[in-house]
Amino acid sequence: MSGTAPRALGEGSRVVVHPGSGVVHRSGDALLVMPTVDGGQVDVATDLLAACAVESDPTGRRRARRVAALLGAVEDPDAVPAFVLLLDTEAGPVLLASGDTDALVRGEHEQRVSGRDSLAWVEHRVEPGFTAIVLGGAAEPGAVAEAPVLPLDLAGGTVPGAGATVLAPTAGVAAGRPGPVVSREKAAPEEPVTDEPVTDKPVTEKPVTEKPVTEEPITEPVGDGAGRREPVAAQFTVMRPVTRVRNVALGPSATPARAPLPVAGAAADRAEAPTVDRDVVVEGLPCPQGHLNDPRASACSLCGSDLDPEASPVRATRPPLGVLVTDDGSVFLLTSDVVVGREPGGSEEVRSGRAQPLQLRDEGHSVSRVHARVHLDGWDVTVVDTGSANGTYLSRTGSAGPWEPVQEPTPLAAGDRLRLGKRQLMYDRHPAGPGR
Ligand SMILES: [Zn+2]
Repeated sequence: MSGTAPRALGEGSRVVVHPGSGVVHRSGDALLVMPTVDGGQVDVATDLLAACAVESDPTGRRRARRVAALLGAVEDPDAVPAFVLLLDTEAGPVLLASGDTDALVRGEHEQRVSGRDSLAWVEHRVEPGFTAIVLGGAAEPGAVAEAPVLPLDLAGGTVPGAGATVLAPTAGVAAGRPGPVVSREKAAPEEPVTDEPVTDKPVTEKPVTEKPVTEEPITEPVGDGAGRREPVAAQFTVMRPVTRVRNVALGPSATPARAPLPVAGAAADRAEAPTVDRDVVVEGLPCPQGHLNDPRASACSLCGSDLDPEASPVRATRPPLGVLVTDDGSVFLLTSDVVVGREPGGSEEVRSGRAQPLQLRDEGHSVSRVHARVHLDGWDVTVVDTGSANGTYLSRTGSAGPWEPVQEPTPLAAGDRLRLGKRQLMYDRHPAGPGR
């Protein structure tokens, strides 16, 4: 397809999150909005977040297939939260909407794409000429009536929100208008819409309720400029102190062009830093749904299906080896080695592209700049302290300890806790999050 198709999440665009109790997630070229997530939908919501975390997906097909596989495996339609997923593909943006929510495309061709129109989901390719795409609609009226004081931009990660507005580069800022274009319900001429409902997947028609999935707000504006992006396209002469969120992107979420981690000092300019090679090929056992698993496992780590020990192993790209969950609730998919610390971007491993940074904020500096490294080897995950001032400690029995100092590379098992200064991480094998 044409390489000149307009991008929704490319250079110069902005993603403004609408306040609310649902979930907004950005992972490179994908933006996922779940306006509400009730208690019974947390598992599928978490799996949807994981399904969006694909490092490179120029056609959007990998994410679409992952989402389809995931939804196809869920028997209870009420367990699926309504969502809108924007995939920014090389052929232009694509919207997937499922359940009781929608997306509004503003610009030359005003269009509304609603998940209510299909039992499964609606897929819609966005025409060129859009100025803004509003995901999740106005789930909480009034929430986005006012333009925010600062030109916000979600560069990556997962934050609470009822929706999000994607502003195309020529919209908003270039016109001297700092805020998002907010959806108005009227005057949109009815354009022919070429939705393609997919009907072979059992998906919810009507997710409900208002219960928030996140207990505490995790947005924390960083006003010190550490996260400021480098200057972009020529028409962008407006100063843009981009406010970043604390829940930084890692793993597949990280894209070199928009390094989502506010790394300090010299590490911030690493324009030609090599990307981490996440496509590691391993031998594994496929489950009946096709998820690749550690040959030593007896059940699928993703869907829980029994694995046939007689099945012949296959060689394929290694899936994420679980997640690191921080004590403030951020979840990071493990797809490559990770350097953990207060300023992990300064480490040699991160600068050389062999590892990704996982930054732990710590006002008291109990966490060293480069504190520990989580290493992926085949199907194994190990942790090693990298000469931190306060050491790295491991508890296999929960956050109350006892804590053993990590003195050499130590294998991690699901549920293990790590203490780095005053911060804690939990490792879990299941990408869907904490298992205990
Ligand atoms: Zn499986």
